Amino acid sequence: MAEDCIFCKIFSGEIPSEKLLEAEDCFVIRDIAPKAPTHLLIIPKQHFTYLSGMTPEFQPLIGSMFDAAREMADSEAVVESGYRLVINQKDDAGQEVPHLHMHMLGGSKLGPMG
Ligand code: AMP
Repeated sequence: MAEDCIFCKIFSGEIPSEKLLEAEDCFVIRDIAPKAPTHLLIIPKQHFTYLSGMTPEFQPLIGSMFDAAREMADSEAVVESGYRLVINQKDDAGQEVPHLHMHMLGGSKLGPMG
């Protein structure tokens, strides 16, 4: 757990947020400022700031984040209509929260990526 990290505080329960799914090493919440009808955040329980910290021994965790995405696509009913998975990294991507997370966006036609 990193001090002053919003997502670590959400995981510990210090900041309340409904967990839509909790797996062994990651969990899923709804984004507080949704950019699409379905906008979820898939978050590792362990604090990583960037993907570069996820060395090869964390491959099972990366796999479990994609398992969570697949499961949520099913429960959010976007499997057929489509969805987008995004990981923002550092300034050029506009990363706001320095705890690695994957966005899942769907439920309507998404604009082009820029
Ligand atoms: P990023 O720009 O990739 O770092 O995305 C961070 C995301 O976290 C943004 O889409 C925010 O709306 C979202 N966010 C920030 N605080 C919270 C919170 N307390 N609960 C849910 N989502 C949050």
